[in-house]
Amino acid sequence: MSLLIHNVTLAPGSPDHVVPRGYVLIQGDRIAAIGAGTPPHNLAADQVLDAAHKVLLPGLVNAHTHLEQTFMRGYSANRSLLDWLKNYIWKLQAAMDVDDVRLATTLGLVEAMRGGATTVVDHHKVPFSARHTDVVLQAAQALGVRLVLARAWADRGTNAESPASILADLARLFSEWQGMANGRIHIANGPLVPWRCSPETLRQTTALARRHGAITHCHMNETQAEVAMTLRETGLRPIEWFASLGLLGSDFHAVHAVWLSDQEVALLAEHGATVIHCPAANMILASGVAPIARLLSPQPAGPVRSVNVALGTDGPASNDGQDMLEVMRLTAYLQRVATLDPQAMAPGQVIALATANGAHATGSPCFAVGDKADLVLLDFDAAHIQPVGDVWASVVYNARGSDVDTLIVDGQVLMRDKRVLGLDEAALIAECRERAAHLARRSGIA
Ligand SMILES: [Zn+2]
Repeated sequence: MSLLIHNVTLAPGSPDHVVPRGYVLIQGDRIAAIGAGTPPHNLAADQVLDAAHKVLLPGLVNAHTHLEQTFMRGYSANRSLLDWLKNYIWKLQAAMDVDDVRLATTLGLVEAMRGGATTVVDHHKVPFSARHTDVVLQAAQALGVRLVLARAWADRGTNAESPASILADLARLFSEWQGMANGRIHIANGPLVPWRCSPETLRQTTALARRHGAITHCHMNETQAEVAMTLRETGLRPIEWFASLGLLGSDFHAVHAVWLSDQEVALLAEHGATVIHCPAANMILASGVAPIARLLSPQPAGPVRSVNVALGTDGPASNDGQDMLEVMRLTAYLQRVATLDPQAMAPGQVIALATANGAHATGSPCFAVGDKADLVLLDFDAAHIQPVGDVWASVVYNARGSDVDTLIVDGQVLMRDKRVLGLDEAALIAECRERAAHLARRSGIA
């Protein structure tokens, strides 16, 4: 199969390379040609898409969410992080059966796709059976989206698992799922938070992940209270403690990283780790403002390099949405406010966090000839976008998830004309509405 998208504005990777009118040819699962102007006459394709007034971007990488929380929207209002987790989220998660997880995840993935994501990192914490996890992977496989399932775990505190069970399930997932669906499925190690994980299991799971070339993905330094807990217990701040355990590396994702010391910033840079910034969740839970502009600047303390920063929505329970275009806009606004500098984040830099940096952190493709074709087409023919002064600024400041017109993963068209293909979305929403109400009653929340 081949697809030619022409008459389109190309925004492949940097503001210098915006092509006002160009074309892309996809053959099989890869980008075969990119060019400016009209496609050559000898460029034949099975399908041709005229994309006038549309902008083609690399697929967006939603580098942190919790898809099962699609059934847990709205509980975060006026609650602290720890109150919200202990009295709502962990109770609801504990009561979810396999069908709840399947439906919540499917709806969550549909929402993420509608928000422009071609890759989703799901920090998945429903540890009751292999089936609770497998339905998530099956849902991604059926929809066609690229998924990194970070198998979350905690071997201390509420709903703790034994280290043996965590390691066995992680090994099973690597053996049964790693690289499935033409390489669209990846498994990662997902310790939940430092204060709920023992050092020995952290070391063992990270070693297992490294044997499979996989990532370790953990919430780090989200609130001041959490930093204080780790400091009291270990004498070190969370990033320092993880560094002392040998966990930091280019395969490490520090999710949130709101409260960082200079020493922790230097450690993240030195090890080539990625910070996953989730501005909506940080604002909703009043966690604070992550120092993104500072992380992206060269670090004076170590080798002169910046920290790789990618973007995530976080779960629907602490964001209430999965719109990566909104996350880009919030990232730009929040850094301006925090630094009092209107130039703190240029639109092109924000887009890079959601595309190239996210792809770097998750091993996803970007936008070049020969790469796997993961692309998103935004409809710019809208009252809140036209007329366009600057393409990159319009993507960050004007476009919304509802402008995602076409989504392509691995060369397959998953969304077209703002419809997710191969799915009765209205029936899915109706079923989810009913199941979520049952779940709230069963868990004693409603
Ligand atoms: Zn999270």
